[in-house]
Amino acid sequence: MQDVKDISNRLNHWSFAGLLMTNWCNARCESCYLNCGPELADRMPVEKALEYWQGLAEASPGGCRIHITGGEPFGDWPALIELCRKAKAMGLDGLEKVETNAFWATDRDLVKSRISELAEAEMGKLVISADPYHQRFVPVANCRLAAQAATEVLGPQRVQVRWRDWLADGFDTAGLPEDELHRVYAEYALKGRDRYNGRAAGLLAKLSPGRPSEHFSGMNCSDQILGSKHVHICPGGEIMPGVCAGIMIARADATIESARRRLAEDRPARPVLSALIGGGPAALAKPAANYGFKPQAVYASKCHLCRDIRSHLFMAGLFPDELGPAWVYGKHLK
Ligand code: SF4
Ligand code: SF4
Repeated sequence: MQDVKDISNRLNHWSFAGLLMTNWCNARCESCYLNCGPELADRMPVEKALEYWQGLAEASPGGCRIHITGGEPFGDWPALIELCRKAKAMGLDGLEKVETNAFWATDRDLVKSRISELAEAEMGKLVISADPYHQRFVPVANCRLAAQAATEVLGPQRVQVRWRDWLADGFDTAGLPEDELHRVYAEYALKGRDRYNGRAAGLLAKLSPGRPSEHFSGMNCSDQILGSKHVHICPGGEIMPGVCAGIMIARADATIESARRRLAEDRPARPVLSALIGGGPAALAKPAANYGFKPQAVYASKCHLCRDIRSHLFMAGLFPDELGPAWVYGKHLK
């Protein structure tokens, strides 16, 4: 067993963190690596978000860059702007970006006024999502309006669109017949931009080329779990590595620093984390087989395999301290 000092040494500082203000979203994108949707309503209270923000800044020697995300953070505009203003008043810097799907961007004046207020509160960049999955729920015209109006306020360097090529030439996918929609998705998925976790491990992964589970043997996840500087904090305070939705490495229920310390101390006794850090999803598949897990014929990525195993374990009620929050596994939809 590795000692605590060794693990502490490998555990990186969290210098890039996303605050998931809510799991509510007007959309239900097939590419959502979480599992957000209109039926969810968990919210991170502003005071909690400030507490996490301060804790993150104090726990990382070089400070922590913050992005505010969801779900859709513009679904509760008063809370979003209150958080940004209060953070500024408290001297919390590092608001790198705010992310949105632009569902609310139907009026140029409204967009400019909100972006100006965020800029005043020291938001670095606005990030707008645009791709065929989002355009099933949000007209691409909204994304274009948001990008143009935000650029007028912030300048081009401070407006990021994921993705610009789609913003230029994309179209609304709402209303497409199912076979045509799947064809568009499958073609777009070949760009390799998707993380096959959360909802994206469903239809989208099936539409993508796959390989047998053995292909992912020997790919450990130490870099993504211990080495990652990027974490997300969920509305309920669960802390997940940036790319590993559904894996709770800590809870921000005390201070961020104490959460990190606890992770370093108790990680060797945590079966899911230990398996993934040591040997990736292939190492987790072995104990999972004892609980009835059987791999599919092919997987789109190692994270797709990981998600399938974790989902099986989660639905069996196993490892509740490591697998969650429940909504990431779509438990609310069962
Ligand atoms: S990908 Fe973004 S816009 Fe789409 S459902 Fe998830 S949170 Fe909402
Ligand atoms: S395989 Fe699992 S643990 Fe590894 S990076 Fe992907 S989601 Fe994270």
